[in-house]
Amino acid sequence: MNEENTQKLFGAFPRLFRSQKEPECFDGWFQLIYDLSAEIEKEAARAGLDSESWPEVAQIKEKFGTLRYYVRNTTHEIQALIVRAEQKSAVTCGKCGRPGRLNTDGYMSVKCPACTEESLADMERRLYVQPAKISGTVLFLDYDGVLHPDEAYHTRKGIQLLADGHELFEYAELLANKLSSYPDVKIVLSTSWVQVLGYKRAKARLPQCLQDRVIGATWHSERDQLQWSNLSRFKQIYQYVNRHELTDWFAIDNDAQGWPEDMKHHLVHTDDWKGLSGEHAQDDLTIKLQAGIISTKGMV
Ligand SMILES: [Zn+2]
Repeated sequence: MNEENTQKLFGAFPRLFRSQKEPECFDGWFQLIYDLSAEIEKEAARAGLDSESWPEVAQIKEKFGTLRYYVRNTTHEIQALIVRAEQKSAVTCGKCGRPGRLNTDGYMSVKCPACTEESLADMERRLYVQPAKISGTVLFLDYDGVLHPDEAYHTRKGIQLLADGHELFEYAELLANKLSSYPDVKIVLSTSWVQVLGYKRAKARLPQCLQDRVIGATWHSERDQLQWSNLSRFKQIYQYVNRHELTDWFAIDNDAQGWPEDMKHHLVHTDDWKGLSGEHAQDDLTIKLQAGIISTKGMV
């Protein structure tokens, strides 16, 4: 319970809280505890208890999601009041005091629908802010201009390649072969396909052996689409690098715009048309893979 509410209780019921035991529970129950304390003192006065035998709070806490209010010098009548308040706590949101119910999944607590939703969102934010450590090298993979010519368009029939004699993902096998001796290389999707199709469907377009390496995407649905589109490809990637504190990473991309000079050793820059089939790109990819550890400090 916060300091302000704690002091309110101590101030209003100095005799009951004479041992200054701070309630160890949610602030949503403040009113419940306040009302109960008032009732206890009223009952003590009615029963004619003297200061020697006046009830005294020993502990207030939460257990299994509901309130526990322990009092010394208690009476039958006072115990009945306490039991009623403890029962009421099972339907009182511990965060805001509105009607709630006991959530038994995970950490037991009483919450109203709004606070339940809020705490789920909180949990998601924490997951987002504190990602799991990634081991091995991370490859940020673009699709267009890498796995096929940069002529893919989102049409009513889905994403189509408008380049005669070429097909979508025609160079994907090439990448799969290159990676086959490097089992520790993980793939993070760094393509607008994720935004258009969603992560799962974008990933499903890769050959299975590449899909097995995919651990995520730079883009996720919570993002502000407009703001994201305004970021350079490098910045989209670099946010992920920072968030996951990556040291071993590189990108394959035909878009080198805004890529800082001192970060270029992290980029296999492909030709818009040739993609990964380009000789230079293939050589560069081989070098990056052989170098093994490509750290942010630069290749030695
Ligand atoms: Zn609530």
